[in-house]
Amino acid sequence: MSPSGLLVDPFAFTRESREITERCPVDSFERLADAVLLPEGSLQATFRGWQDADGKSWLKLDLKGALVLQCQRCLEALTWPVQVASLFLLVREGDALPDDDLEEDAWDCLPVGKRFDLRQIVEDEALLAMPFAPRHEECSAPSRADGGERASPFAGLAQLRKPEGRG
Ligand SMILES: [Zn+2]
Repeated sequence: MSPSGLLVDPFAFTRESREITERCPVDSFERLADAVLLPEGSLQATFRGWQDADGKSWLKLDLKGALVLQCQRCLEALTWPVQVASLFLLVREGDALPDDDLEEDAWDCLPVGKRFDLRQIVEDEALLAMPFAPRHEECSAPSRADGGERASPFAGLAQLRKPEGRG
């Protein structure tokens, strides 16, 4: 098996404005495979790098795909779509993080060395995108988890049937 195309020199990647798209099987990530119900399918990761006028190195990740999670209501499988766009400001490992960027929500600082496996970010971002308690919008399987009544989607109709005001 060839080495991952996502193992790069990150500063060369941004300096040369490179772009790479790689399909990453879910079962190729140890932590992610443990976190999902079934380690099936893959995530498609597209990285773009560039340097701005101040010489700062930026890396953008677009991550797409699906994860098979467990519905916390009926405990059956649930396919959770993943669509993440993340922006990173590269800083050299060991360098101080820029103060003014610490509270910035639009990007994260990413300390990197001369070689960096971008797959680390793919796994981290996929884990971050996973909901804490995923649920089907409507469970098709008989409910085992709550065992109680489920609100009818038509319950709201009773409200609509009230006599209308005359005017
Ligand atoms: Zn469910």
